[in-house]
Amino acid sequence: MLRVGLGLDGHLFEEGKKLVLGGVEIPAPFGLKGHSDGDALLHALTDAILGALGEPDIGELFPDEDPRFKGTPSSLFLQEALKRAKAKGYRLVNADCVVVTDRPKLSPYKELIRENLARLLGVEKERVNLKAKRREGFCREEGLFCQCVVLLAADE
Ligand SMILES: [Zn+2]
Repeated sequence: MLRVGLGLDGHLFEEGKKLVLGGVEIPAPFGLKGHSDGDALLHALTDAILGALGEPDIGELFPDEDPRFKGTPSSLFLQEALKRAKAKGYRLVNADCVVVTDRPKLSPYKELIRENLARLLGVEKERVNLKAKRREGFCREEGLFCQCVVLLAADE
């Protein structure tokens, strides 16, 4: 059995906050607004896995107003999604992700982020892909957004 999942997430920039993308801290004068660490890439990836499983989305499982998730590393959300996948007998075949932003320049960090995503997912790097795209003038440059597609498989 194969199941595909799609996740999309965007966060506004926030001056002075730490920028964390895919669990990797990236030097920048701004971070991503949000109740947790604001890691839009991990949020999109988590939602893709939850979506493939037909589970409630990240906002339903980890509500913004819940003080337990204030400043929390978003890897916690991903771990929960992976736990749910495992409980249903699913493993990750591959994940393909896109980050759309003009700043900071992500090319020096792409491999690092990809390696960290693979580590968090517990798979080899070849199963995870990451693309960085510029917004090409589309929408205002006040934040960034990320999209991930995952394929899960279960042996039956
Ligand atoms: Zn988010």
